[in-house]
Amino acid sequence: MTPHIAKKIDGRAIAQKLRNNLAQSVAKIKAETGKTPTLAVVLVGQDPASEVYVRMKRKQTQEIGMTSIEHKLPADTSQQAVLDLVKTLNDDDDVNGILVQFPVPDHISQQKIIELISPEKDVDGLHPLNAGKLAAGVEALVSCTPMGCVLLAKDQLGDLTGLNAVIIGRSNLVGKPVAQLLLKQNATVTICHSRSKDIAKICANADLLIAAVGRPNMVKADWVKPGACVIDVGINRIAQAGKKDRLVGDVDAAEVSQVAGSLSPVPGGVGPMTIACLLRNTLQAFCAQNNLEMKL
Ligand code: NAP
Repeated sequence: MTPHIAKKIDGRAIAQKLRNNLAQSVAKIKAETGKTPTLAVVLVGQDPASEVYVRMKRKQTQEIGMTSIEHKLPADTSQQAVLDLVKTLNDDDDVNGILVQFPVPDHISQQKIIELISPEKDVDGLHPLNAGKLAAGVEALVSCTPMGCVLLAKDQLGDLTGLNAVIIGRSNLVGKPVAQLLLKQNATVTICHSRSKDIAKICANADLLIAAVGRPNMVKADWVKPGACVIDVGINRIAQAGKKDRLVGDVDAAEVSQVAGSLSPVPGGVGPMTIACLLRNTLQAFCAQNNLEMKL
């Protein structure tokens, strides 16, 4: 008998499809309104990973026909200067979405930035108003990685109604918003975290398992229900002597792929969806600011 291998969830292809749809919508909007949706990205410092993300965001923003504005500030920029820049972008009618690339240097408060960005331009979906609207089940700008996870899950499983969904991780960035989104999809949702007991047993009951922890290869084969859909959000950098760091997820892919029905790889799973959802949010923000219905 040939051994079972989980279907690889192709985040790159699914993200490309979303970007193609966005490009069509952007072209129509430009023809109808003469305006171009615009995303402003702020990078403070020279963290190599952040620089790569910002470059990818710019490239993909431009590829779908939107305008990308970049503000690169030195690492020693004062907190006040960053906040002043955010205020200027809030007041600029030509800017529809604002993203400050995190992490910022330690002397700058991430939370102050999150709370200052105008909720209408908050394409990262982290402002308390957007987080609250999501929790209340009201239309909001939703944080990008959670939205990407749910789009991948729906692509694999279709209707999520009544499925047991287990999330490992309860951060404001991933775990909590993904739980809210899955509740909205009528899944039965359980959240595990560092104080949870019997995580392996809880996970083994999941039709949909989402790991957002930041611990390499934590999820093992015996944590996974046969046939389950497993979404790996983790990005862990493993140093290799004389070579570039290797990226691994929170799921032990070699083991889990022998049990799961489908598994998102790292890299090439959730990561590409995160950027595509950022672009989707920029279009959503543009439409809301211009009283247009968003058609995708
Ligand atoms: P985070 O803020 O550090 O949260 C990690 C969560 O994991 C916390 O809720 C923590 O529990 C829980 N946890 C830690 N150790 C655990 C354990 N042994 N058992 C069970 N739960 C445990 O991280 P995050 O921002 O959510 O990100 C999680 C991972 O996703 C990271 O690897 C990050 O790089 C990656 N990520 C990827 C993308 C993407 O685009 N692909 C985007 C965002 C994040 P407590 O709350 O109890 O401490």
